[in-house]
Amino acid sequence: MAYKTDTICVQGGYRPKSGEERIPPISQSTTYFYEKTQDMADLFDLKADGYFYTRLANPTVAAFEGKVAALEGGVAGIGCSSGMAATTLTAFTVCGAGDNIVSSSAIYGGTFNLFAVTLPKLGIETRFFDPDAPAEEIEKLVDGRTKLIFGETVANPSIKVLDFEKLSGIAKKHGVLFAVDNTLATPVLCRPFEWGADLVIHSTSKYMDGHAAALGGMIVDGGKFPFKGNPRYPSFNEPDESYHGLVYADLPAAAFATKCRAQMMRDMGAMMSPQNAFLSWLGADTLALRMERHSSNAQKVAAYLAAHPKIDWVWHASLPGNKYHALAEKYMPKGQGGMLSFGIKGDVKQAARFMEALQLITQETHVADVRSCVLHPASTTHRQLTKAELEEAGVPENLVRLSVGIEAPEDIIADLEQALAKV
Ligand code: PLP
Repeated sequence: MAYKTDTICVQGGYRPKSGEERIPPISQSTTYFYEKTQDMADLFDLKADGYFYTRLANPTVAAFEGKVAALEGGVAGIGCSSGMAATTLTAFTVCGAGDNIVSSSAIYGGTFNLFAVTLPKLGIETRFFDPDAPAEEIEKLVDGRTKLIFGETVANPSIKVLDFEKLSGIAKKHGVLFAVDNTLATPVLCRPFEWGADLVIHSTSKYMDGHAAALGGMIVDGGKFPFKGNPRYPSFNEPDESYHGLVYADLPAAAFATKCRAQMMRDMGAMMSPQNAFLSWLGADTLALRMERHSSNAQKVAAYLAAHPKIDWVWHASLPGNKYHALAEKYMPKGQGGMLSFGIKGDVKQAARFMEALQLITQETHVADVRSCVLHPASTTHRQLTKAELEEAGVPENLVRLSVGIEAPEDIIADLEQALAKV
């Protein structure tokens, strides 16, 4: 039976047998015992499901993988040590030296660094596009060595909403995998597979855990990408000599997830820990409820800020005048999430004064947990940039990023009000 997202949040990923723990226990063991050599051989040959070493699979991690895969409507999940590990493993599963990624430029700064600085050192190029550019312009970046088209459902910190159909049209036409970072929307607000994505990536450290307790990442395989016979992906169609000559495209399901785990997780070891999987699994129980509240709180805060005389501009797709309002209505009709950015009138000093005057809302580099928090990039994460460089990076010096929590909206607004009075 196909359950709704709210039900999958609390029931997905784990079903105990009679007499077993009702919620997944923390399997705090690196290794697993088998009586028969053949049982273990079958696991190595992927002929049986099970566990032999926690770097590759673990029961607690599997419960969380199952929950996120079910929430997204995919066929398999891979729990990773962080969101960055999930994106790195995704890139390495399909790219080698000489290949390229075609990516939106409106993405999280850490992912931008990975694509723009680190992967090129290994011979993997990234061609960035402005997500507002027309399809024909973006399409020109795709060539025979393009292995991945990449974007974020809701970009951090520019809060741009991805035009899924534009990008999936290009991906389908050229037979390229389309991967989407769905961290800030979550499957409660947007399900990228329904809009043509092939892979979904999460930093589960954000809303999925939701309590700022556990770092983690997840890759979800949609299971529908046609790897078989696709000349763009020889590594899926040729025998993997490091894995008994397995041809991933010949597998009945989850070719991407199987290659990612059998090759990349094996070699790089960026596995989610059982403890973090447990905390994230628990957090995700309330994801649907929390996203509803994050979205409605952010909508109220955005409307309040937009009407405030000391505020220059506000970016949140719930605002009718926002450039991404129509895309958000199409792809995220249930709510636009808790992240917003705004500019305070005046210079960098006014923004800093505002931040320090906040009493309830705290300054943090983290986003997307239950507590409201703010960051002023120009005086923290982007402080090395000049005013002109900040503008170019799409982070004006007066930009404040606000992650709206699930506190009473009146209290969040009252805190903003008293801090703005001091500017
Ligand atoms: N993707 C997005 C949209 C993010 O906001 C972040 C972190 O802030 C990441 C990926 C990276 O995740 P992690 O910090 O878990 O490595």
